[in-house]
Amino acid sequence: MSNVYYKKYEGNDPKTLSGLAKELFEYIVKHENLKLEKKIPIKVHFGEKGNSTHIPPKSYNGLIDSLKYRNIDTSYIETNVLYRGSRTTKESHIKLAKEHGFTQIPIIIADGNSGEEVYEVEINKEYFDKVKLGKAYDEYDQILVTSHFKGHGMAGFGGALKQLAMGFASRSGKMAQHAKLKPSVKGKKCISCGICIDKCDVDAIHIENYAIISPDKCIGCAGCIAVCPTRAISNDWNAENFREKVTEYAYGASLNKRHIYINFLTNVTEECDCIGQQMDTIAKDVGVFVSMDPVAVDTACLDILQKNENEALFDKGRTSLEHAKKIGFGSLDYKLIEI
Ligand code: SF4
Ligand code: SF4
Repeated sequence: MSNVYYKKYEGNDPKTLSGLAKELFEYIVKHENLKLEKKIPIKVHFGEKGNSTHIPPKSYNGLIDSLKYRNIDTSYIETNVLYRGSRTTKESHIKLAKEHGFTQIPIIIADGNSGEEVYEVEINKEYFDKVKLGKAYDEYDQILVTSHFKGHGMAGFGGALKQLAMGFASRSGKMAQHAKLKPSVKGKKCISCGICIDKCDVDAIHIENYAIISPDKCIGCAGCIAVCPTRAISNDWNAENFREKVTEYAYGASLNKRHIYINFLTNVTEECDCIGQQMDTIAKDVGVFVSMDPVAVDTACLDILQKNENEALFDKGRTSLEHAKKIGFGSLDYKLIEI
């Protein structure tokens, strides 16, 4: 059983979110008697260009103040994305982060200029013997892993597990998780706009009467799925074990570390912050959660969201949680403590 602490959030002011995150961080440090390292980066998602529902930079001010007050050296830390976009290279990634207002502390792109800097962690689990992560993560024993809890087309939901898995993986690690995810196009829905062709790094898409994806060329990065305006591109998720692979990568990214997990259950959208466009929110804001257990904090967020909204919401993400239980990672049982 793991403790999950939370505070309700009832406004739309990032300054308030910042105060809640700070209070929760300080509470867990005190009540779980945590030893803090001298260097603790903050893992974030800067939001794709055009996205407006990611966690805003002001929400991190309280955490940054609290770390600096303790003389802890901090920075933002992230890895490059697999698909072609504003966060594919270190230079463009940092540029976008600054444009989005993430300017308070230095920014580390953990996997180098375009994903070539890698370190491996041996896990010996069902799908992977080892995972490939951004090299700079290896320098830190403790990271504040912050996550925006919301939907995700492939994973079901995106929270702490997804942040650890995709957010820590190098480009090669991301590809390993996506491997064999071969999307296809529903012809009737395709309007032949060509947006997916521009997104595809490996020229796997061409248009005949509608977009066609060549399975021999496709590397399964899922970039085209994220950008299609008519949702014409889909996948056979169950056949590919994507969610189980995400769990195993999350396990590898947390192994022998003492990360602290903060989930923001606010601005809940159906899709993730990699979508470079405005999206409607689909659920009431709930609050901010903190735990030392990424499985417990995600389980708590999903349970509350389903109770508040509907039981089917993001339910396919349960596969990730169940796989965590199967491989002995974290705990599905949690004690929810409102502070
Ligand atoms: S982005 Fe979607 S609608 Fe546009 S061409 Fe590709 S599959 Fe068709
Ligand atoms: S066709 Fe394959 S490689 Fe190209 S963007 Fe889509 S998923 Fe990625």
